[in-house]
Amino acid sequence: MAVQTVAGNTTSSAPAVDLGPAAALSCRECGERFELGPLFACASCFGPLEVAYDLPTGSPEELRKRIEAGPDNIWRYAPLLPVPADVAEKPNINPGFTKLVKADNLARELGVTGGLYVKDDSGNPTHSFKDRVVAIAVEAARAFGFTTLSCSSTGNLAGAVGAAAARAGLRSCVFIPHDLEQGKVVMAAVYGGELVAIEGSYDDVNRFCSELIGDPLGEGWGFVNVNLRPYYGEGSKTLAYEICEQLGWRLPDQIVIPIASGSQLTKIDKGFQELIKLGLVEDRPYKIFGAQAEGCSPVSAAFKAGHDVVRPQKPNTIAKSLAIGNPADGPYVLDIARRTGGAVEDVTDEQVVDAIKLLARTEGIFGETAGGVTLGVTKKLIEAGAIDPTLTTVVLNTGDGLKTLDAVSATSQATATIKPSLDAFRAAGLVAG
Ligand SMILES: *Cc1c(COP(=O)(O)O)cnc(C)c1O
Repeated sequence: MAVQTVAGNTTSSAPAVDLGPAAALSCRECGERFELGPLFACASCFGPLEVAYDLPTGSPEELRKRIEAGPDNIWRYAPLLPVPADVAEKPNINPGFTKLVKADNLARELGVTGGLYVKDDSGNPTHSFKDRVVAIAVEAARAFGFTTLSCSSTGNLAGAVGAAAARAGLRSCVFIPHDLEQGKVVMAAVYGGELVAIEGSYDDVNRFCSELIGDPLGEGWGFVNVNLRPYYGEGSKTLAYEICEQLGWRLPDQIVIPIASGSQLTKIDKGFQELIKLGLVEDRPYKIFGAQAEGCSPVSAAFKAGHDVVRPQKPNTIAKSLAIGNPADGPYVLDIARRTGGAVEDVTDEQVVDAIKLLARTEGIFGETAGGVTLGVTKKLIEAGAIDPTLTTVVLNTGDGLKTLDAVSATSQATATIKPSLDAFRAAGLVAG
């Protein structure tokens, strides 16, 4: 590819890696730019780094046609992602282009008249949205020559890394808190990589991984959500692209997004902004709402208190995939919710379970606890008048209920257990009247 020249404090030599339109890393805080590499913090101010692009310059119509002619996965958006142009031909789990379900039954139940949609990311290869971020991180790992793929995970990420490493022919070694759901543990282990359970919370696991990166023990390791985090994060932009394309190249008026580290929410906003800048969607206001479980609600607490800083919490909730007590992108989430006129709200574990069952009962979608958090918060914000029921609203279901069976198993069992006879069935009282 052509030699990229980037402004700022980078060396003048051509980048050694081809990550398509990605031009440099830039600091979110001070704007300083760095050459593409496995870096995640600004050398000057320690702010988080993100990918800066040379975005396509052609007409929006040309770009739209090019995207629509692309594969039915996230690589249709390759011109907007830090991946090489021939990415679709490389061994990758190829996630994305999941269903945007028009949820009319749910809309009726919630009194939404402006159009309610569920973006169902349980349809990804390892049944969560994490496949999007990992698919991009794999390409970065390949470009930087890492041979081991790793992560600290609340569960879904470990499975996605295991699967993606298997497909890409890389070694994997992933780290999880020791008390995760059985479905998440098995999904993380079955792909044949190393799975290490740490006696502690996710925040302990994350701290451990940061130490490992700085140690010779972790040399040559690509940690998707630490030293590859700037690339990893970009995968979440594809949710924004897909939702707009599936709505007919239109921004939703309102979107509700679950928050763990807050990365997904901030990158969906980045994706919307890019589509506006490229002229692919009309520039109209949209509101972004963040969803947390009450038992791990540091961002929601800061939002409600009017604070700019997020005070860490010790998580205690059934929504384990969202149980990050010290969310790295928390302050940026607060900025986005406030700038767009959205909000951050939380619900109890009981409301999470009710919302999982509501989604299943009305739309035939079995979401994991994170989906219950997001729909539960949506319902609460509609009732509070913060979400306008007359506008188009998108709710994310980011994971599959089969991985968090315990959340609903007590109340989802056989209606009756009977002998195989018509008399027994009649006696059970289930015959339609
Ligand atoms: C990881 C995860 C999220 C949110 O992740 P962020 O760290 O906020 O980007 C949401 N839902 C599920 C199911 C997840 O596994």
